[in-house]
Amino acid sequence: MKVPFVDLEAQYQSISAEIDNAIREVVLSTRFVGGKWLSEFEEQFAEFCDAKYAIGVSSGTDALRLALVAAGVGEGHEVITVPNTFIATTEAVTSTGASVRFVDVDPKTHNIDVAQIEGVINENTRAILPIHLYGQPCDMDPIIEIARKRDLVVIEDACQAHGAEYKGRRVGAIGNAGCFSFFPAKNLGAYGDGGCVVTNNEAVAEKVRLLRDHGRVDKYTHRIEGSNSRLDTIQAAILLAKLKHLDAWNAKRRAHAELYGERLASVEGIVIPEILDTVVHVFHLYVIRTQRRDALMEALKEAGVSTGIHYPVPLHLQPAYDRLGLKEGSFPVTEECAKRILSLPMFPELREQQIDSCCEIIRKGVCGI
Ligand SMILES: *Cc1c(COP(=O)(O)O)cnc(C)c1O
Repeated sequence: MKVPFVDLEAQYQSISAEIDNAIREVVLSTRFVGGKWLSEFEEQFAEFCDAKYAIGVSSGTDALRLALVAAGVGEGHEVITVPNTFIATTEAVTSTGASVRFVDVDPKTHNIDVAQIEGVINENTRAILPIHLYGQPCDMDPIIEIARKRDLVVIEDACQAHGAEYKGRRVGAIGNAGCFSFFPAKNLGAYGDGGCVVTNNEAVAEKVRLLRDHGRVDKYTHRIEGSNSRLDTIQAAILLAKLKHLDAWNAKRRAHAELYGERLASVEGIVIPEILDTVVHVFHLYVIRTQRRDALMEALKEAGVSTGIHYPVPLHLQPAYDRLGLKEGSFPVTEECAKRILSLPMFPELREQQIDSCCEIIRKGVCGI
């Protein structure tokens, strides 16, 4: 049985009339930049995130960059984050003129190890950038507490965590601002690139709104220099149509995760994801750990099951960060994760037989190698 890693066509088929209609309306209006679809999407996405403001931007990467700049991060500052993430997180930091300061992750959740944060704070530290990896929120209370005590800002990378909850609150505006990606395969995906900054802070919202559109306050007045980092109207209209389904899609992801968990918990040599009891996980990715990762990945591939590794090379060991001079051994938990992790197929339209088939191959693979 073929099991794709994600199936964006199946999702489109399930809502094709709504999507076609949304695109057609925008095209007929010829309002391709800004307009009512954008403001309506921003309003509804803010509400979805329990936030006061949402500002649509051109990608998750730009959301991170603009949120950091709007929160005052720049030249000479340090931003604390982890090497177990996608490079967009740290590219955004560098693009502001600030430097990246890594700490390791927690072995259970693969999210930032909160106990290591205070040890790397110095007079240049300006922000903490926790990533809600795979769709599981970081332990935010102690992070917020450290930030309060040391006068730092907290920018959440929520690019994998649309709708995830920490202690009953949706992620995004728990810190000073939160950043989302609408890359097609994310839990809420556009038909191209897109992103969003959410915040409860009016000044941050105002600054991001200026920065994303050439610093414009009206057509010919540029209060500051910004960039063209807008969310396209067609994408906003598509996202608006999809947003109505997001809670149901996330619930399906959780149900699939539960099935995987039931099927795999007793398989020796497989560690299933650990979910904190303070969170609602939205399973952008379902990531298991095993000593036999590469062989298992091969067996699954042969059987027609697509998998992934998020991420195989930790950022501190990437050529792009040679300048940091961080060698193997600097972040042992992240490095160990990178060797053992395997992301299994996960998308709302996944069928029970597909999960069964995948788990059966894993059981045979692990026991039979
Ligand atoms: C997807 C992603 C990003 C970047 O989003 P883009 O929209 O692709 O720019 C940033 N951080 C994490 C953790 C992501 O998964």
